[in-house]
Amino acid sequence: MPHIPAQGEVGIDLGLKTTATLSNGQKVKNGRYYRMMEARLANAQRSKRKRLTKTLHAKIRNKRLDDLQKASTQIVLENKLIVVGKLSVKKMIKTKMAKSIHDAGTSMFKTMLKYKASALQRVYVEVAETNTTRTCSSCGVIPDSSPKGLKGLSIREWVCCECGAIHDRDINAALNILRLGHQSLMPEVA
Ligand SMILES: [Zn+2]
Repeated sequence: MPHIPAQGEVGIDLGLKTTATLSNGQKVKNGRYYRMMEARLANAQRSKRKRLTKTLHAKIRNKRLDDLQKASTQIVLENKLIVVGKLSVKKMIKTKMAKSIHDAGTSMFKTMLKYKASALQRVYVEVAETNTTRTCSSCGVIPDSSPKGLKGLSIREWVCCECGAIHDRDINAALNILRLGHQSLMPEVA
């Protein structure tokens, strides 16, 4: 494997709605294809067409795998440091999607990033996601105005009441994840 240099550093917030949000603002999304195919799948399931259901499942899975392969390759090519949040079990349980194909894709994405990072000699770090959603990535505090609890799950954008920064929920989380990655790499002060 030739050495391919990269300058970037990226934090990745693995979500449930969007597959992943990067600290540079990019989002790996499930696009129109999935909505279309999932509608067809629901139809096939309703009318109990087993063969068609199976075929559509496989099609969706393959497309998702392909999309995740492309996205993970691009991320690893562009970045020398890749920090990923450990998907908290709590977050999974809070939603009904825990067993869906979608979440299987999310852990698959992590696996892809990990082995591609290692192949290209990138630094791959996983950090605990605790408070990454609630902490303001601009001033570093957990302000009263940050999204919290079950209610907070639907808040996509918020303003920090301490410093006035306007946050996209997931990009803010990804920025915090990148910062935690940096912290975990710093030599411990004795
Ligand atoms: Zn702030």
